[in-house]
Amino acid sequence: MKKISDLTILVAEDNDFERNLIARMLGEMGVVNILHATSGDIALQLLAENAAIDVVLCDLKMPDTDGVQLLRRIATDWPEVAVIIISVLDERLRGSVERMAREKSVRIAGNIGKPVTPDKLRPLLEALDEAVPAALLESPAAAWPRITTQDVRIGLDKSEFYLEFQPVVEVASMEPVGAEALVRWNNSEHGIIPPDAFIPVAEMSDIIDEFTLMVIDQAINACSLWKQAGLNYRVSVNVSARTLRALDLPERIQSLLTSHALSPDQIILEVTESGFMEELAKTLDVSSRLRIRDIALSIDDFGTGYSSLQQLQRIPFSELKIDRSFLAATTEARVILEAGIRLGRELGLATVVEGVETQDDWDRVRGLGADIAQGYFIARPMPAADVPTWHEDWTRRHKQ
Ligand code: C2E
Ligand code: CA
Ligand code: CA
Repeated sequence: MKKISDLTILVAEDNDFERNLIARMLGEMGVVNILHATSGDIALQLLAENAAIDVVLCDLKMPDTDGVQLLRRIATDWPEVAVIIISVLDERLRGSVERMAREKSVRIAGNIGKPVTPDKLRPLLEALDEAVPAALLESPAAAWPRITTQDVRIGLDKSEFYLEFQPVVEVASMEPVGAEALVRWNNSEHGIIPPDAFIPVAEMSDIIDEFTLMVIDQAINACSLWKQAGLNYRVSVNVSARTLRALDLPERIQSLLTSHALSPDQIILEVTESGFMEELAKTLDVSSRLRIRDIALSIDDFGTGYSSLQQLQRIPFSELKIDRSFLAATTEARVILEAGIRLGRELGLATVVEGVETQDDWDRVRGLGADIAQGYFIARPMPAADVPTWHEDWTRRHKQ
């Protein structure tokens, strides 16, 4: 890792006063190699001429090539260069530009509003090595070898998939009421692979139906184990919208429940919004028959997909699960979280908020009147066999 004083930094800022001020700050931090660009075009030219540039401080509003265009070029031509966005633009607009850049795998090292101060700048320069493109962070798939449907087939045959369970708690009473099943792959070659790396692959073919039934089977087994331990839990299973078109799904779930002497209200199917629109008639057929059998349906990741409100109207959901991104500290997130909880309540759906990570999150969710909470604040996903001990521990700590 380079020391701040060894960095070569390009300051792309058209305002002379501000550019000189930033350069002076950098100088005081010990930076010697500072390049000045008074426009986006000049920045591009300097990048082309200087392979040594480590960091670009990028103003968004510049004559000729603006900051967004500059970021786009950096993504394709100089992906190793780190970028700190600086701008007077409001936080939301800066956020959009940052997301765009991260999508394109630019190494974003920071995003600061003007005025630039040493306090804002120094920690970003010190943490440059941690500036990994979000595309790598957010899609674990990118970090794993390419997985094919064939690999999933082999994994299924070798019984390499297993479940972990994350408890959910009723907010008002603090009582645990169930757990969500989250699949993992114990791959013989690569070790434990998280679901985001293979579910999308499995969802591209019919294999997802067999996969889902395997998960439902294991989840029902776990639920029956908890029942023997005296826990009246319901288990939530993630089901691809595609599987909701398998016409025999209701019967198959029913027969698994019966064989374990569980009642239909002990399982909930969580479906993400995207994908409902294809073969709507079949989806409506299956979802209605599930509900007729008292099997609950939850709309998962609410707020992130397409035309969510339309889906809510069409599919007979019983629970609304608000995506964890809406617990973020921004005004937009807060407004959507509140609206989601209100909407659920007014439609007579149970509201679940996921991603509750801190006491503060918990207090907010409680204040807003959500029914159920899930997240690291309550528990991390764990093996089925650990749930009874966790339950005992939690209830002891939160006896009211
Ligand atoms: P999801 O349904 O939204 O599941 C919640 C994810 O958030 C889980 O990640 C869980 O570990 C994580 N999580 C829980 N609490 C917190 C928290 O407080 N903070 C943060 N940052 N994260 C939290 P996981 O297990 O990696 O699952 C990722 C996604 O994979 C799931 O998102 C779900 O869409 C999908 N998935 C998991 N299991 C299955 C399955 O059996 N079938 C299908 N079709 N999809 C599955
Ligand atoms: Ca889920
Ligand atoms: Ca989610």
